[in-house]
Amino acid sequence: MRVNDVQRLDLLSVRMRASRMVDGEPHHVSGAERITPSADVLSVVQAMAKRALTHPLGPADNVNIALERVTNFAVSSAMPIISVTASSPAEGRSLAADALIASGVAAEVALGAISAIAAGPAPGGRNMRGAMIVCAKTGRRLEADSARGVRATRMDYSGAMRAHLLKVLSAVTTDPQRTMEALCVASKIVGHVGAMAEYCCSDDPDYPGGYVCTRAHGYMRIDTLKAVGEGKGGRAIFVDGADPDKLARAVETDVVLFDMFPGMSAVLECASARRHLHDPSQTPLTSAFGD
Ligand code: AMP
Repeated sequence: MRVNDVQRLDLLSVRMRASRMVDGEPHHVSGAERITPSADVLSVVQAMAKRALTHPLGPADNVNIALERVTNFAVSSAMPIISVTASSPAEGRSLAADALIASGVAAEVALGAISAIAAGPAPGGRNMRGAMIVCAKTGRRLEADSARGVRATRMDYSGAMRAHLLKVLSAVTTDPQRTMEALCVASKIVGHVGAMAEYCCSDDPDYPGGYVCTRAHGYMRIDTLKAVGEGKGGRAIFVDGADPDKLARAVETDVVLFDMFPGMSAVLECASARRHLHDPSQTPLTSAFGD
């Protein structure tokens, strides 16, 4: 179903958070976001409960599923996907730093944020629950709560776009769901005019990848940013003068449905990805969707 076919008053936001207690403190296990027609809500809730209760980081002690009626939403385009393979975490992080620098982030700020995320960006070297907000010029942390950070919520794909992405990504990755969820977060964050760029390194010990997303270069997915087995990760949103509280509010509360996709590249080596940073228009994209 394309967005135009959805009855606006019939949409629900469904949000799931699961945690477990470790030494008396709640630890994040899993989270999920959907915007769904109310007719499909029971199957969405069921899938989320199953995901929370069977997650490899569990068992979850606490699962919250929240439903909210959606009365207002924006329709937007997801970022194009540029896939890159790196031969080592050092090569992947160096490309990620170059992508951030190409979007206007100061070199020492880009390198500092990548290192902070590798060390655990929350107090005590733990992972945050959301993203940090970083001044692209000074490197100052601007999020209100350095343990929680900013969480992108209330965004999803239209049904038709979800089906399209699932099909085209299944041909190039064994875990299309992970890429779809990350693309949705990145497209919402970088779609906001106040955000210059976003960096993500996964905190999943079994997944060594992440991405840099900018409006100019798209969602650049890098398959190696850390060693397999490493559980430290996080996200950083880079800003230059934007009000961090306003940005956080928009990223957390505005409802966005993605119903357009400019397409995706073939898998590039780091050298070709650097050429993409200089001239994104020369990178061929396939599998576009929407107008
Ligand atoms: P993941 O890519 O799911 O492994 O998450 C990596 C890190 O990104 C987490 O440790 C959180 O700090 C952060 N994060 C996860 N989900 C979100 C979100 N929806 N919005 C902002 N930051 C997030």
